[in-house]
Amino acid sequence: MHDTSNTPTSCPRLTTANGAPIGVQHALTAGPRGPVLMQDVALLEQMQHFNRERIPERVVHAKGSGAFGTFTVTRDISKWTRANVFSAIGKTTELFVRFSTVAGERGAADAERDVRGFSVKFYTDEGNWDLVGNNTPVFFIRDPYKFQNFIHTQKRHPQSNLRDMDMQWDFWSQCPESLHQVTILFSDRGIPASLRHINGYGSHTYSLINAAGERVWCKFHFKTKQGIKNLSDEDAAKLIGEDRESHQRDLFHSIAQRDFPRWRVCVQIMTEAQAAAFRWNPFDLTKVWPHAEFPLEEVGVMELNRNPENYFADVEQAAFKPSALVPGIGSSPDKVLQARLMSYADTQLHRVGVNSHQIPVNKPRCPVMNYIRDGALADAGNYGSAPNYWPNTIATAPKPDASFADPAWRLGETIVDRYDSAVDHDDFTQAGNLFRLFDDAHRDRLARRIGGALKQARPAVQQLQLCHFFRADENYGERVAKYLGIDVKSGKPCHARV
Ligand code: NDP
Repeated sequence: MHDTSNTPTSCPRLTTANGAPIGVQHALTAGPRGPVLMQDVALLEQMQHFNRERIPERVVHAKGSGAFGTFTVTRDISKWTRANVFSAIGKTTELFVRFSTVAGERGAADAERDVRGFSVKFYTDEGNWDLVGNNTPVFFIRDPYKFQNFIHTQKRHPQSNLRDMDMQWDFWSQCPESLHQVTILFSDRGIPASLRHINGYGSHTYSLINAAGERVWCKFHFKTKQGIKNLSDEDAAKLIGEDRESHQRDLFHSIAQRDFPRWRVCVQIMTEAQAAAFRWNPFDLTKVWPHAEFPLEEVGVMELNRNPENYFADVEQAAFKPSALVPGIGSSPDKVLQARLMSYADTQLHRVGVNSHQIPVNKPRCPVMNYIRDGALADAGNYGSAPNYWPNTIATAPKPDASFADPAWRLGETIVDRYDSAVDHDDFTQAGNLFRLFDDAHRDRLARRIGGALKQARPAVQQLQLCHFFRADENYGERVAKYLGIDVKSGKPCHARV
């Protein structure tokens, strides 16, 4: 997966970034005591690159640990979802997981009392599916307007730059919906002993859609097979004094020693009828679905079995976004999820860049074909000479596949769907009215200009476009046809359409 062509094998030659061999690595000076010459470009290059080594720290979940692994299906759930990742018992999908603390900065200690981020990127055959969750099934807020404010209270005081209990409790006291998550945070599970000993939760309610287009609501759970293990406050304080990277160290060494951590992957399912009758809002991120009513159904096993070769390349540049959904797995009315669908993609655009999806850890393992182009550090040949616009008439260009269309979704009286804006719209009357407003000479100038430009397009495109002029006004079409050199006397090239 990684490009190892630059990895040293036997005594590789030191070069500049542009590949020129470096003879001696001492600063180039006028005499043994200096000064340094500006022409020592290799030195300048090293200094300049060093000054730009960091990318913006994640505002939330800055401190992370990651590993590659696999997801293996253990149960057929095709009655609930058509998602390719679940398509057959025994099917294995490569994945990458990033664990994190929420509040601490990139250098924060691991064994702190905090929620843990638990993000999984499944490289499925039908696109990357990012399940961006936590080690808790609920969250502090249910209205996305509160998220940024909540995180401010978890970070540092604007004046003292200290973590501030007054800020935190002031916010929580104003937001009683936080009580469930506060209870989990201050319970014995608030300081995990290691990342291998935590559960993961998708937390939000998602939708599953089967091949018949039927939808159920779903919550995802990852149950650690290592068992839950936590630290007491005293043990955590002692550990932080000795080792600030205890979770990173434990995960890395466990995998290096082939003691691969595993999780049972489970779903809870709620039908639309059950959702309508549920005593709580099933899309409220501060609520669980009680296990007794919505039992956990095991669907697979996740194993982490490969350490990243390079922390920055794979863990720091890993860009997760809940909007990375695949056919058969969809969003829900959960307000916080709806906000995160935009916010995470946006933060990765800022943090990693517009082409973050082309970095190896983020790159789908399946073919990617679209009309997104260019931007800083565009890789992958930038699709070469392929067209960069849609719709088009190019036979080899990528086209939507209607078999992957999501079913329509009834929201009260409203039907949510992807409506074709061309249906029931009159694109021709007003263009024709304008044409009819012009005097004869103006009509001729118009047709001549259009003819001159349109003649440079392919004949098939000329024919299609000519029809539109005819639909607006027969005379409009005839005039443009004259300048295209197309004989329409023998029969109209298209039917009138309004
Ligand atoms: P259940 O008795 O059916 O579920 C209990 C759940 O609580 C188990 O999943 C258990 O996890 C988990 N749990 C135990 N101690 C803690 C803790 N200190 N922090 C977080 N989770 C813990 O009851 P309900 O389904 O009615 O849930 C009761 C409460 O359990 C919820 O309000 C929620 O706080 C918590 N919970 C519920 C989950 C759900 O999906 N229903 C999921 C996780 C937590 P485990 O099995 O791994 O020991």
